[in-house]
Amino acid sequence: MRLKNVPGAREAIAQSDLVVHEPGEAKGNWRQIFGNDHPVHIEIGMGKGKFIHGMAGRFSEINYIGIEKYSSVLFRAVQKMEEEPLGNLKFVRMDAEEIDQAFAEDEVDRIYLNFSDPWPKDRHAKRRLPSREFLARYARILKPDGCLEFKTDNRALFEFALEELPHAGWRLKALTYDLHHDEDMMRGNIMTEYEEKFSSKGNPIYKYIISRI
Ligand code: SAM
Repeated sequence: MRLKNVPGAREAIAQSDLVVHEPGEAKGNWRQIFGNDHPVHIEIGMGKGKFIHGMAGRFSEINYIGIEKYSSVLFRAVQKMEEEPLGNLKFVRMDAEEIDQAFAEDEVDRIYLNFSDPWPKDRHAKRRLPSREFLARYARILKPDGCLEFKTDNRALFEFALEELPHAGWRLKALTYDLHHDEDMMRGNIMTEYEEKFSSKGNPIYKYIISRI
């Protein structure tokens, strides 16, 4: 994601009640925050939030939390929510390295990673969101039967993500090397910003669904 410094983004986020500002206090209390006991689905690295906003609009019986590291990007998601408010979507500005400080054990039912940054240099492999290091963090917050869905157009990142699974103790449940021509896996698909951009250039989209059991 190209990062432009958006003037006022930090201040607007600081004042927004769409953003949960103390994720440490929310840990273990997400059901109280939403005021119901619906399942919790999170997107890590949500960018401007097109996907998660679309999901939350479609599935009102699920609570969604969008996690994004940068204020300038999160600001766009907040603006979209102000235009089209939804009661079942909240945001957190944080680095996913600390994800287990925002969620208690088994508090999350599903995790989405969409078009995660590739970090192409080998020495940065640990920063890739589908790396074994991140999978270990996700395992601490995801229900044992919960699953993680990952989409990307980056073949090298996708191959890396597949190779990480046995090391991290996760199991492949579904896989496609061409999501947009896979009738089963495409059903109900909501496109992300990057997905629209890269699929319109003709790039195939790769996707897997994984779980720990
Ligand atoms: N998911 C969106 C999409 O598919 O259109 C955005 C994709 S963009 C390439 C990746 C996003 O992940 C960026 O907004 C970036 O700031 C965010 N991100 C990368 N690493 C992150 C981390 N460790 N924690 C939280 N967000 C992260």
